[in-house]
Amino acid sequence: MSVRNIERVISPPPVHMVGDGFRVHNFIPGVEGLSMQRMDPFIMMDYNSKHYFEPSFKPRGVGVHPHRGFETITIAYQGRIAHHDSFGNHGVIGEGEVQWMTAASGILHKEYHEEDFSRKGGYFQMVQLWLNLPAKDKMSAPKYQSISKENITKVQLNEGQGIVEIISGKFQNHRGPAESFTPVHILNLKLNKSGGTEFSFPSHYTTCLLVIEGSIKINEQQMAHQDQLILMKNDGDNFQIEALENSEVLVLSAEPIREPIAAHGPFVMNHRSQLLEAFTDYQDGKFGTLEE
Ligand code: MN
Repeated sequence: MSVRNIERVISPPPVHMVGDGFRVHNFIPGVEGLSMQRMDPFIMMDYNSKHYFEPSFKPRGVGVHPHRGFETITIAYQGRIAHHDSFGNHGVIGEGEVQWMTAASGILHKEYHEEDFSRKGGYFQMVQLWLNLPAKDKMSAPKYQSISKENITKVQLNEGQGIVEIISGKFQNHRGPAESFTPVHILNLKLNKSGGTEFSFPSHYTTCLLVIEGSIKINEQQMAHQDQLILMKNDGDNFQIEALENSEVLVLSAEPIREPIAAHGPFVMNHRSQLLEAFTDYQDGKFGTLEE
């Protein structure tokens, strides 16, 4: 058991809009040093930091677009997101819920603020991660995992220090509900002021923390604040987080896939020829159809 040290604490880069509904800081791969290769298997992280959207009768969002070769994981902290896809699926991701979409061989979908939320307006905060798939699984069938609040595994820390919610992977000897193709731990840590806990993941796993709320101290030395991303080194397995105020932290740790990456827009494959194939398949209607 050796200590995993901090590589960098990164403040959120300037926001940009995805469609008209997602006001995001693109940490991966937008921030220098957070390339798809360095962050493998996390190939994209868009973070909509807490933002108030005015009421709107026309739900804001992003229209029909394809994905192939990976999974999208959407975590709603505040606000609600609706989605429709080319397989006829439709759903709403509510506060504290997660949608895990395996795009794999290809899907068309659209993502919007849920109608009622849109009409009333309100605070919106969410994370969308793209998790790469190994070559052998890139062309598997698309599927969804809708993870409700009740399904997320909750582990109470001693002495009321807080709670660890497991979306995927493990914490101590508890396991989360999501099924993944490669080992990935996605945890939501909610700490009360002065509460703390320790995490242990294999040292070669790509590991980072996103402060959703509050302020924390890592390994009793480095402070980090709301909206900052902490990239951890690969020099050890254990690290510790303590809350300086009531705080919430998204904890990510995953085994790198270590295969070639060829990426263009919504397609993430292994080789250039597969990107051309994806584009041709998309144009030929092989991703199905979906109305705007
Ligand atoms: Mn999408």
